[in-house]
Amino acid sequence: MKRVYLDYNATTSVEPEVLDAMLPYFSAEFGNASSIHTFGQRARAAVETAREQVAALIGARAQEIFFTSGGTESDNHAIFGIVSSSFTSANSSTSARPHIITSLVEHEAVLNACQALAKQGVAVTYLHVDQDGSIDPQDLEAALRKETVLISIMHANNELGTVQPLEEIGRVAKQADVYFHSDAVQSAGKIPIDVNQFQLDLLSLSGHKLYAPKGIGALYVRGSTRLKQLLYGGHHQRGVRPGTENVAGIVGLGKAAEIARHSLANDAKRLSALRDQLEHGLLNRVPHSRINGARAVRTPNTANLVFPGVEGEALLIALDLKGLACSTGAACSSGAVEPSHVLTAIGLPTEEARASLRFSLGRHTTQADIDFALQVIPAGVEQLRQLSPTYQKEAAAKT
Ligand SMILES: *Cc1c(COP(=O)(O)O)cnc(C)c1O
Repeated sequence: MKRVYLDYNATTSVEPEVLDAMLPYFSAEFGNASSIHTFGQRARAAVETAREQVAALIGARAQEIFFTSGGTESDNHAIFGIVSSSFTSANSSTSARPHIITSLVEHEAVLNACQALAKQGVAVTYLHVDQDGSIDPQDLEAALRKETVLISIMHANNELGTVQPLEEIGRVAKQADVYFHSDAVQSAGKIPIDVNQFQLDLLSLSGHKLYAPKGIGALYVRGSTRLKQLLYGGHHQRGVRPGTENVAGIVGLGKAAEIARHSLANDAKRLSALRDQLEHGLLNRVPHSRINGARAVRTPNTANLVFPGVEGEALLIALDLKGLACSTGAACSSGAVEPSHVLTAIGLPTEEARASLRFSLGRHTTQADIDFALQVIPAGVEQLRQLSPTYQKEAAAKT
């Protein structure tokens, strides 16, 4: 059966070149990067090459890159690390609670880290977004307090593709002398990133969204940043992130970053053309469908549409049976399906949030894949609408 994968924002396949680069580090080159002998030196050299490759993708210096277990750890380290260091460095006579500013549309790795800190007494402001998922830098300025220690705003949203105005946010952060972190897991390799242009102090990356393996990521930390460590152990990665380095994973992330740096412009051009074709095709073929986040600056690969009258989960399963993989933004927590917090934040009523699907394209998406999607999605929506008495009644009332 033909299977088309339009869920690259959930994860990507490891690029063959990336796998090839990694393989020796599972066998012949198995050394511990901390060992002094030749085996260790060779592993160390590979890790340091990867650090340079990752740094080059985001305009950083190699010594500012720390390898982690993925995007989730990087986000947690940035947020807990900055807040803990502000606690310990605060004058013990002041009782002011540190304050963080983030947004309502962040990934759970950021939102739940902030929530955990809120339970420990940290004040958190969640900035609202407009109907396309963008924050307003003026809201950010208004939210600043003298206790604000961190602004954490993602670069590109995983569900909508909406790109936040990092350059303006960076300017506000700098002026207020507040640390600025961005979860760039969904933008890395898709749109250009420059930590200096954006005046970022911390930035999170994940391997598996970038054609490298799952379980490897990176945290960029600007040289001057005071960041408390999360883990205690040896002196690996200058003690900032101890634990024997995942050499093969690191090599893979480095290679993937290098490939991304060279193919970014071409990928973006090709994917945005295919994405636009998918969106226009669906708008034309599916009555009453709409694009979520249509007016925002978006990553080139992401399309999120509402198909009023259908249950997103049911459509996803119907499409999967026909061979098309996509996603709802819904979180399945304890059996109950909660509508996506991102779609709720852009003002979609629960019904429409539940009727939305995300299609995310990637390096291996072809014209034939889009043609296939344009066949099966309209048919799938039509089938489900036929089964929905409320939709039939509303449609009849409109005509
Ligand atoms: C996938 C994702 C993460 C989590 O990364 P992992 O490597 O899977 O832990 C964090 N933020 C965003 C925006 C993501 O899309």
